Amino acid sequence: MIIDTHCHLDDKSFNKDLEDVIKRANEKGVIGFVIPGANPKDLKRAKEIAYKFKNTYFAIGVHPYHIEDYDKDYLLKFAKDSKCIAVGECGLDYYRLPKEKDEKEKIKNLQKEIFIKQINLAKELKKPLIIHIREATHDSKEILINEGAKEVGGVLHCFNASEELLELKNHNFFFGIGGVITFKNAKKLVNILPKIPLDKIVVETDSPYLTPHPFRGKRNEPSYTTFIIEKIAEILNKSYEEISDICFKNSLKLFKEFNKIEG
Ligand SMILES: [Zn+2]
Repeated sequence: MIIDTHCHLDDKSFNKDLEDVIKRANEKGVIGFVIPGANPKDLKRAKEIAYKFKNTYFAIGVHPYHIEDYDKDYLLKFAKDSKCIAVGECGLDYYRLPKEKDEKEKIKNLQKEIFIKQINLAKELKKPLIIHIREATHDSKEILINEGAKEVGGVLHCFNASEELLELKNHNFFFGIGGVITFKNAKKLVNILPKIPLDKIVVETDSPYLTPHPFRGKRNEPSYTTFIIEKIAEILNKSYEEISDICFKNSLKLFKEFNKIEG
């Protein structure tokens, strides 16, 4: 059995055929789904989907690109729902910063401020964190450690192959491995994978983005977690079943709600 620990099923690209998408996933053994929060505007739809399908949950959170929409009171309206299992995706993303120095610093500081607020929200709600980090490794790691994120732990979604972030394995964090591992230019991630303790790896698609080989360029969907597991198994010289089993067990430790799996 497989849990896709990060899939944006609330994305518009799934509006027309979500039932088929879920069916195809179920046929491949993908029986659980986590819809991360990114833009608060999509929360209602994420919640609806979580109620519509078995073993499907959502998270409340604001992606670094949507920090202007952070509104704690609004997020709290969804937090008490039994289908809400985490806080995120939140974090730092320095990929698309303005060129002008003062502007750049301003946005960076705002991202940090909202990130810290969401770590505290997770602690308040006693829920794990779903972390997004892009080109902001050092600052993200410092914040997670300094703010005591260990208390709730969580997952580094779309783990970016940084040695520095490996330290977070000692801070109650799992490492989300996605389609990037199947890319021809993923050497760095392929090399670092054996350094992640096996009991800290979970799989995710980040659907509809980051589609694994051989469907790169097309819309991603949870059934493609199988390509990711295959690749991990190949790199670590283990069987598909072994990796799928370990990742499943790790997902239950990360998101406790999956322990009450519905058949
Ligand atoms: Zn995502």
